[in-house]
Amino acid sequence: MGPTCDILNTGSELLLGRTLNRHGQWLGRRLTPLGVSIRRQVTLPDGDIIREELEHSLANADIVLVTGGLGPTSDDKTRDFATAVLGLPLTRDPVALDSLRQRFHARGRSLSEAQARQADLPDGALALPNPFGTAPGIWCGPAQTSPHRSRLLCLLPGPPSELRPMFNEHVLPALTRLFALEQPDESLAAFHFAGIGEGDLAALVEPGLPGDTGVEIGYCAHGTGCMELRLTGSGDSVARASSWVRQHLAAECFGEGETTLEQAVVRLLADQGQTVATAESCTGSLLASRITDVPGASDVFGHGFVSYANEAKSRWLGVAPEILTKYGSVSRETAAAMAEGALAASGSHHALALTGIAGPGGGTKDKPVGTLWIGLASRGRTTICSNHLFQNGRSMFKQIATTRALDMLRRRLATSIPRNR
Ligand code: ATP
Ligand code: MG
Repeated sequence: MGPTCDILNTGSELLLGRTLNRHGQWLGRRLTPLGVSIRRQVTLPDGDIIREELEHSLANADIVLVTGGLGPTSDDKTRDFATAVLGLPLTRDPVALDSLRQRFHARGRSLSEAQARQADLPDGALALPNPFGTAPGIWCGPAQTSPHRSRLLCLLPGPPSELRPMFNEHVLPALTRLFALEQPDESLAAFHFAGIGEGDLAALVEPGLPGDTGVEIGYCAHGTGCMELRLTGSGDSVARASSWVRQHLAAECFGEGETTLEQAVVRLLADQGQTVATAESCTGSLLASRITDVPGASDVFGHGFVSYANEAKSRWLGVAPEILTKYGSVSRETAAAMAEGALAASGSHHALALTGIAGPGGGTKDKPVGTLWIGLASRGRTTICSNHLFQNGRSMFKQIATTRALDMLRRRLATSIPRNR
């Protein structure tokens, strides 16, 4: 039997419905495959109840993980409650204090007493470095926790961008050692697709994937318009089924594991020494934003035009007013002219253009809400356009539209011959 674990997520905002509690799912997904049994996951407001629940968890679970409430503000109470429950004095950790000072100094600010409190730890606890925020995590090992039964108490910062790297880098390796956790033979592979629905993907996978691989197949549609194919089973069977997917679905599949579509596109562009520009109408600047989410995007992206008004389409992208008048701003002709205009204005190798009707207003009988045109112009290649109808509401429309645009470029890049910039 593996160790038991309680997860206490603190923060009144989680109960007020202002923030979605994402830590429980994320932590559970990492711990349960290693044999850790999650005994309970509780969401708690910032108040005395944190102390009560901590007492209960420390008396009943082998591992207690608490998230949130380590910052410098008056609602950040986790550190004080944990110290009180452990019955230990609070001591200021000189290394954590020095790293806080350096962080503030680098920003030209001095460290206030409220900020310095973040370096206070229950006596004997370890500070876990937090390169993405101010509050260090706090690791209380058997020496601090065993009088209460639990063998480990770990306090983690609230923001996911701080908690996740800290957990991967420090907490998981230490838990693996402390509890001799083992990677199971059960293995999982994930493959990602865009521009294809669940049914069509299943029709590609199931007749082809050799039945004797013995893997379990799962499909998951993401809100961004991407599909995930999951293969689970023994290490050997997943390896065999994965090589079938790589061999037979290479044109459709944009990546594996945690790869995003924007990462795949940026990597293809970088590998081919090429660049892309964007010309966006209905998506605001979402396409440019997704591309620039990828580290190293500056090697492949330099120009993003937001041409929401017709005047902007003409002035910045050179779309002829006659095209706009004759065909309308949401049309094949306008999408092509926007893409070609962005290509010329930016000097990039490729330009993607999006124009459509996100809704809820603006639709007509011929061009209902959800109509989208995507244009892709590339140096020395024919400009191509595609037409879609996504009636999923404004924000989903923007997500799916940009996914389709990225996938259009990905498909072109995947079939082009590498050449130098
Ligand atoms: P900070 O120094 O930023 O205050 P903290 O460790 O004190 O960090 P909290 O104050 O509890 O953490 O939360 C900070 C922010 O982190 C919240 O406003 C919220 O945006 C995010 N956050 C906290 N807990 C969760 C959670 N369970 N799921 C998703 N986001 C969360
Ligand atoms: Mg806080």
